[in-house]
Formats: sequence, C-alpha cells, structure tokens
Amino acid sequence: EEMKNIFPKALVGRIGGDEFIILVEDMPLHELEASFLKFNSNIKGIYQDDGSGMKISCSAGIVSCRNTKCTPGELFQWADSALYQVKREHKGSWHIVYPHEDEAPLKGYLTSSVVDEVYTREETLIKNHDELVLFCLELLDNVADVRNGLKMISDRICSFFDFEDIVFIERSSGYNEKLYHWSSREKKQVSQRTLPDDKQAWEYIDDHYDARGIMVLRQQEMVPMQGETVGSIMFVKTKEQKGFQGLIAFVDRSKDREWEEEKDTLYRLAVVIFNHLQQLREKEEAKQRLEFQLNYDQVTRLPQYSKFMAMAESYCREHSDRQFYFVYSDFSNFQYLNEVYGYTAGDMVLQEFAEELKKRCVGGIYFTRVTSDHFAGLLEGEEGRRLAEQYRELTANFCDKINKKYDQCNLVLISGMCKKVSAHENITYTLDCANVARKYGKHQAETAVIMYNDEIREQSEVEKAIVANMATALENEEFVAYMQPKVSLSTGKIAGAEALVRWIRPDGTILCPDTFIPIFEKNGFITKVDFVVLEQVLAYLSRELKQGEEVVPISVNFSRKHNEYGQFVPSILKRLVQFQVPARLLEAEVTESVFMSDLTALNANMTRLRQEGVSIAIDDFGSGYSSLNLLAKVQADVIKLDKKFLDYTAGESRTPDFVKYLIKMMKRLGFTILAEGVETKEQAELLKSTECDMVQGYYYGRPMPIAEFKTFMKEFNKKH
Ligand code: C2E
Ligand code: CA
Ligand code: CA
Repeated sequence: EEMKNIFPKALVGRIGGDEFIILVEDMPLHELEASFLKFNSNIKGIYQDDGSGMKISCSAGIVSCRNTKCTPGELFQWADSALYQVKREHKGSWHIVYPHEDEAPLKGYLTSSVVDEVYTREETLIKNHDELVLFCLELLDNVADVRNGLKMISDRICSFFDFEDIVFIERSSGYNEKLYHWSSREKKQVSQRTLPDDKQAWEYIDDHYDARGIMVLRQQEMVPMQGETVGSIMFVKTKEQKGFQGLIAFVDRSKDREWEEEKDTLYRLAVVIFNHLQQLREKEEAKQRLEFQLNYDQVTRLPQYSKFMAMAESYCREHSDRQFYFVYSDFSNFQYLNEVYGYTAGDMVLQEFAEELKKRCVGGIYFTRVTSDHFAGLLEGEEGRRLAEQYRELTANFCDKINKKYDQCNLVLISGMCKKVSAHENITYTLDCANVARKYGKHQAETAVIMYNDEIREQSEVEKAIVANMATALENEEFVAYMQPKVSLSTGKIAGAEALVRWIRPDGTILCPDTFIPIFEKNGFITKVDFVVLEQVLAYLSRELKQGEEVVPISVNFSRKHNEYGQFVPSILKRLVQFQVPARLLEAEVTESVFMSDLTALNANMTRLRQEGVSIAIDDFGSGYSSLNLLAKVQADVIKLDKKFLDYTAGESRTPDFVKYLIKMMKRLGFTILAEGVETKEQAELLKSTECDMVQGYYYGRPMPIAEFKTFMKEFNKKH
C-alpha cells in the first residue's frame, strides 16, 4: 500500500517473501531519493518499536534503465547487485548502479549466499537473550539458503547457552523426520545418537509437554543410549498447522540442566525458526502452484505444448529401444458447438476429451492441447495400424457420445499419426508429419486417423516447394495467363475467352493450376496471382483496342479469398481505369461454392461490380452442393454449367432432358448459360438442341498463350 502511495504511477510486483520489485518511470534522481526516504520513514511507523528492539526498514537496490541495451533480465541482475551493496553496508538505505552492457554484475543479493558471509564474518557480539533472538530473526530474514541459516543460528545459540546439539525435526503422523542436525562436536561423533530412539521414550515425551509445547527431559528420566550419556534435552513443538508440525530439540550432552533460565528465549527462538520454516514451505507450495499454472493448461489440465514436448523427448530418450507414434488431432465443427451451446460447454467437451485420452487411450503416454481444439499425443506400441485403429475407435466413440448429448452439432475428429522412425529423429519433426497427415483428412465427414506415409511425404514436399518458390515466381513473372475460347452457339463464332493461369518454371515446365491453386487458396497467395492474371488480360485488351483490333470479353477467375479484403472491388476498378479498358470487356468468375458461405460480403461485391458494368459468372455450377434457390438470390449474369452435366449425358439416357429443362429454367431467371468442358461433337450437337448460349471446351479449343489466341480467333471465325 505504501509503495503505491509513494510511487502512484509505478509498476509494483512482489518477487516473493518480503522482496518487491518496482519500475519507476521518468523520475529525476533527487525526486526518487526524496520519495524513497519518505517511504522508509513511513514504513517505520507501520511496526512500532515495542521495546524488543525490532524495527522494520527497507533497503533498495536501484538500476538506471536509461540509455541501455540491457534486457529486463539483465537489469534485474543489476538492481539485485545494487541491493547486495546496500545490505552489506548500510541497511535501510539505497544504492544506485548504472549497468554496463557487456558485463554482468558480480554479486547479487538474491543470487548469492554472500549475505551469509556477512553474518559469519562479522563477529557480532551478542550480549543478552534479546540480542540473540534479534540476531536470529534478522539472519533468517536475509539468508538465501535455509540450511546455511540454520547452521549459523545453531552455532550462535549453542555457544551462547553452552550446549552441543540442536536437532530440527518434522513430525507427521507420529513419525519423526530429521530435517537438520547441528552439532558443535567433532564430525565423526555427530553420527552418534543424540535423541531417544524407542517408541516408549517418545510416548513418554509426548505425554509431558506443557501448554506452550515445551518438554524438558532431565537426566534421571533418560534411558542410557547405548553407552552414551546425555545430560538433558529441552523439546519445543509447534501446534500442527496445515499438516506441518515442527519439533526442535536442544541437547546438552554433558550435564543435567533445569532449562529454567533458557526456557523463554529458546521458546521464542523456536517460534521464530518454525515460522520461518512454515513460510518457506508455503513459498515452495506457491512455487509448485505457479509451476502448474505455467506448465499446465487450465482447461484440460494437460501439460502445455512446450512441457509436453520436453516430457515426450525425455521419455523417448529413456526408452530408445521402444517404438513411438505421434498423433495430432483436430475437431471439425467445434466452432459450431461453441456458438450454439456456449464456450463453457465447449470447454467441458475439451476437458472430457482430455480425460478420455488420459484414461483410455491405448499406448497413450502424454497428451497436450496445442491450441484451441487441437490435441497432440505420444503413443507407444509396435504396430502402427493397430494403434491407429484403437485411437480412431476411441475418438469416434467420444464424438458419438458428445453428438448425442449436444444433438445440434456434428463433432468429427480428424487425426494424423506418424511413426518416430529412429531414436535420433527430432520429435518436432515427427509431430509436424502427424499434423501434415491430419490435413490430408481434413475434409472427411467422419472421424478418421490418417497415417503419414511416403505418398503424403512426397505430396507435402511438393507443397513445401510450391510455397517456398511462390514469391520468387511472382517476381520473375512465372505466372502466365492462358486463354480458352468461348463459342457462341447462335453465331458459331468466338464470343469470349476465359483466362486460366499457368505456372511456367524457369526450366520450361508448365504447372497446371490444380497443383498450386488449392495451396494458394489456403495461404491467401491466390489473391496476388488473380491480379497478375487480371493485369495480363487488361494489358492484352488495352493493346488490341489501341490497335483497333476486334476484341471479345474475357473472364478472369477470382478466388473467394478476395471477399475477405475490403479493397477487392476498388482494386479491379482502379485497374480498368489504369489500362483504359471498358468494364463490359471484363467478366469475373466466382465458384458456386462461395455462395454457400459468406453471402453478404460477396453479394455486396458482386452488386458493385455489376453496377460498374463488369459481368459476373457463377463457375462450376452443379459441381458441388447446388441449390436452385440460390440462383434466385444471387447477383450474376452468367451460369457456367460444370463439365459434370455433360459427363452424365454420355451414360444415362434421361439426362439430356434434365439438362435441357435445367437450362430452360435458368434462362427464365434471366441468366446467360455457358456449358463447360465440351469435348466431343455429340456433346456439342446435344447442346445445340437446348437453349444454351455458349460453349467452352477442348472440342473448340484448349487454353493457349495470349499471343496465340489472337490468331486462333481470326482463323476460327473465318472457318465458322
Ligand atoms: P475452371 O475455372 O472450372 O476452369 C476450367 C478448367 O477446365 C480449366 O482447367 C480448363 O483447362 C479445363 N477444361 C476446359 N475445357 C475442358 C474440356 O473440354 N475437358 C476437360 N477435361 N477440361 C477442360 P485448368 O486451367 O487446369 O484450371 C483448373 C481450375 O483452376 C479452374 O477451373 C479454376 O478453378 C482454377 N483456376 C485456373 N486459373 C485460375 C486463376 O487465374 N485464378 C483462380 N482463382 N483460379 C484459377
Ligand atoms: Ca473458371
Ligand atoms: Ca468451371
């Protein structure tokens, strides 16, 4: 409170015990000094001197953070070293240091036991009982290492009162555990017994404590211990507190004493020591709690990822002769559960899943929650296929259970598994592979475990290479727009073209979009590529227009990703202006599936483009989950019927009618209809018998470089 009072703007933290750390900003040195003096005089008032000679004071080690490149950790060390200086010289005062960047402070207060040296070095003369208690109190408060502290205290007590041994004992359920034994005798004698060791003697002692917890064992009550004489012993025990009961035995080996004169002081000392030990114990517990919080996930109580990796690593190392597998699991539709049933329910499911893993997973050793609903685990077992099947069964059962309880969600767990091939293999790598395998099962509708294999490895290496090369490829203009003609069925002439991207590698190999577009969709790079294609198309149109050549509208594919960015439509319009191409020569193709999700953003964009004169085509209609209702809502000009419709016509006899009516119906809604993937004369003839407006396919022309397209169009139109 007082710190906050004096330094209202400072950041104050407690390091532990009675040590605090404080960060003061922008305060001139003289002001800092004045504040500190005020602080110290204020806290002196908190504990009034009650005649015992005890006062509290505060020492401060200060480090100036000005113009330094030191890390906070280094600054801490410097402040600590400053505190060490103060404690050594003028307690209750302060000392400031200016850190040197490339040196570390030599001695710190918290980090060394030098304070201990101070106490041993100074042969403090203890004149009376009060001074002895004060000395012990202060020492225990300042010493970093307890054992060392107890040693020094014992030394002083024994020489002050002239006896030989002090034994510190912890008692729990009648059982004595010796914590520390100090003896003034020669080392070899220390091992000799000091305290009674038979049950009867202890029962006798237990029965004779006074109200304060003091028991004096006089010489005549003592059973001789294997030929050793013991003068007398005074025991002090504490009240049991949180399962801790301490016992201190002060032992005079040589003579019998009444302990009357020493009793009060020894009792006070014992209390001081006990309190100190109790505090230490609480600190230790707090440390453990903190450790748990830092290393374990609050929701699932599983170890955090880094902790898990460290545990898995050492487990694998210790059992290098065994076979290990890593699993990586991710729930599908978890978001839905959160949204419908709330985050508390979501957390409970995660917690339950963690419990299930810990309890039931065959071969499961450690598990962690990597992030949100992703889990990873280390499994042990010889046969991967069996482990995978057992894991699948466990997780499928779990999902079933949850889906029954929360009947509006359809939780599915997709996992990847990978074998740790050699003892030296980096476990991060193995887990990464398990995660890669998982991604290959991402779209499955049922809980599954995918085992990492050569095929996945090759594919993921290709993917990695694609991602690694994409930026340079963009710079080197390796993405090139090809054009595929669209033919009007009414005129028989080329009425448009679709721009399709090709990746032409420096060695001349041509990559088709199916190999890289899905990857670019995932990482968002597609938005860059689409605009490269757009610019190539606009450059071509602009060139032709300037030369007074005949041009047809060209369509460009735009990924759904664009709708995540606000600048999508303005960017297109800006380029139309820049290249001086009229909007009616541009068509935007968007795939049907995007209409399933982000309809509002998309529709706004489509409306805007149409207002500007850019026509919109719905691509791949009928390839996925199509809804005719959708067509009534959607802002579009052209429907591109997927190749699938024509493939039907090859086999089934009824299909042509179906296609015919579908086209008729869509025409009614005002759309222009284009049939894609026309490969044969039969297909072309069939389409002529419908109301289909345009056709596109290998039968008419394959995608070709832009330069070729110009001549192709001229030739084609001449022939038809
Ligand atoms: P899409 O938009 O449906 O493009 C039509 C695909 O069908 C093209 O494949 C084309 O070459 C192919 N095709 C045309 N006629 C026929 C035919 O008669 N038979 C068969 N079997 N196939 C035919 P491509 O060029 O490999 O493109 C594949 C897909 O990649 C495209 O499908 C499109 O979804 C995507 N894509 C291509 N270029 C781009 C682009 O610049 N941007 C975006 N976002 N996606 C693109
Ligand atoms: Ca397309
Ligand atoms: Ca298509």
